[in-house]
Amino acid sequence: MPDFDIGTVATPVSDTGLISIGGFAPVSFADWPGEIAAVIFCQGCPWDCGYCHNPDLIPANAPSRYGWDQILGFLRERRGLLDGVVFSGGEPLLQKNLPAAMAAVRELGFRLGLHTGGAYPARFRQVLPLLDWVGFDIKAAPEDYADLTHSRRSGTDAMESFRLLRQSGVAFETRTTLDPYFFTPPRLLRLEQTIRALGLSAHRMQDYRETGTRLRQA
Ligand code: SF4
Repeated sequence: MPDFDIGTVATPVSDTGLISIGGFAPVSFADWPGEIAAVIFCQGCPWDCGYCHNPDLIPANAPSRYGWDQILGFLRERRGLLDGVVFSGGEPLLQKNLPAAMAAVRELGFRLGLHTGGAYPARFRQVLPLLDWVGFDIKAAPEDYADLTHSRRSGTDAMESFRLLRQSGVAFETRTTLDPYFFTPPRLLRLEQTIRALGLSAHRMQDYRETGTRLRQA
């Protein structure tokens, strides 16, 4: 997980009442195609994918590693040097104060990106008007989500979020991590059918990387 010393002692984010932050990358060329962005890694995810590369970001009750004011102060000094800020995770939509946090970053003049699996459609609907770009994970065919994420509603929620994304007109990229432990030939076939049915001609298949995962088969 990217981590960065921004100069002051990390204070629990409850001090500021906004979002919980598990990591921060001050500059990235890889998290938003064509943009130079800082990345805020939100703490907590309601899902539990076997191939997760940031398992430390899954516990929602882990203390925030940065105070929100620290992050805002850092970004304030980078105005004009960065194109935008990406909220990543974990699952950023878990943060109930995500709309307020995004609005504050936008007020500084940054473009806004989001990495999400779409776990919370209602909150996604709230933040879509603030966003310039979304990197959206299509994890599997809807009927296979629960086996991968260990969350019963995940397929329904992800598909509803994707419907909202399409409806919004916000630019997006979709991708799937091809976990060889999970994608049996029938699951792979159902994924391909899903991608075709959604009309995703530019869908990106990401290679599975075992480093950093918990090596647990789904
Ligand atoms: S949705 Fe993402 S952050 Fe959450 S467990 Fe799956 S891979 Fe990890």
